[in-house]
Amino acid sequence: MTIAYLQPDTLSLALRGSVQKQNLLDFDREAFEAWFAEMGEKSFRATQLIKWIHQFGVTDFQQMNNLPKILRQSLEQNATVENLQVASDALSADGTRKWLLQLADGNVIETVFIPEESRGTLCISSQAGCALDCSFCATGRQGFNRNLTTGEIISQLWLASQLLDKDSKPGRKITNVVMMGMGEPLLNFDNVVRAMRIMMDDFAYGLSKRRVTVSTAGVVPAMDRLADMLDMRLAVSLHATNDELRNKLVPLNKKYPLKELFQACHRFVDKQKARYRITFEYVLLDGVNDKPEHARELVRLLKGLPALLNLIPFNPFEGSGYKTSSAKAIKCFSEQLHKAGITTVIRKTRGEDIDAACGQLAGKIHDKSRRSRRFEKPRFGMKQ
Ligand code: SAH
Repeated sequence: MTIAYLQPDTLSLALRGSVQKQNLLDFDREAFEAWFAEMGEKSFRATQLIKWIHQFGVTDFQQMNNLPKILRQSLEQNATVENLQVASDALSADGTRKWLLQLADGNVIETVFIPEESRGTLCISSQAGCALDCSFCATGRQGFNRNLTTGEIISQLWLASQLLDKDSKPGRKITNVVMMGMGEPLLNFDNVVRAMRIMMDDFAYGLSKRRVTVSTAGVVPAMDRLADMLDMRLAVSLHATNDELRNKLVPLNKKYPLKELFQACHRFVDKQKARYRITFEYVLLDGVNDKPEHARELVRLLKGLPALLNLIPFNPFEGSGYKTSSAKAIKCFSEQLHKAGITTVIRKTRGEDIDAACGQLAGKIHDKSRRSRRFEKPRFGMKQ
């Protein structure tokens, strides 16, 4: 059997190890079928493997008792199901759980499970670090190392499913996935799309398309590509209502300014069969983007777009230079939006005591961007 199907990321990792085995977590259905076809195997083997690995959590090929012995042997020699290592497992007083997961190259990423009464949401990372450098985000401060492979992305769901399964408490099941952990998912496009296909595969995790959300700071060309390829929910991290301010908070805005971003949002909704509302995320920063004039600008921007607004109280971290908006400012801001007919939710902060809240995910990244050095001293005196 020849192993010809290797993703570039996987290839470099595999070459570093002594044995070059294919990590089957990198495969979505299409990749499995292509791989089995190359081996002269029938395509239904793809379903069998997907079920064993993702539905039953089995990683030992010998236990896959509906596969012929010879195929099991061949898989054992040439393939593996390689998950990330759990470096730590923390449980918050509110039930939020955060795992630090170590990659084979020593980088550490974070995955967070948020249980609620009617659902359980897993927040997944797409990159080791983040290249976008949003000024209010702890992940951005860590700098950037690399994209995660499909296997490293889906392993977060695999591990969380297994670990939560052991936990017998009710309401611990993963019903939703949000690509809102570390990194910008649309800058790791192919691996993220492949991972989302596995999440939505009926024989793997069977998540419906309205329960899988990809969040972006606004990588416009990738939003168009995504809309053509896959139905799922989109969240856009907005945080500012004019280009001048957004350039400071989300530097990606200099490349794709608000006008282009909103045109892309309209195209996205038009192209999608499901036509779900886009969720706009807006972190409220005291005195920066939480004034009545910002709320007015926001109403203008969202006009005519099927939208849902998520107001996120800023989660402070050391040296950020920002403060959380007052409860009164948050209430006034949300009321202004409500009055204009926009569905607005003030997001509850979860898992703060274990640093698992939005923007607090930092992991341990070998920073290749050298950005983290800039932040060795707190950034006081930052203009707001
Ligand atoms: N890069 C993608 C995915 C990350 S999502 C994106 O930007 O959408 C992480 C979410 O948490 C984003 O909406 C981000 O803006 C928000 N966030 C980042 N830092 C935060 C902080 N300190 N407090 C509250 N929310 C924060």
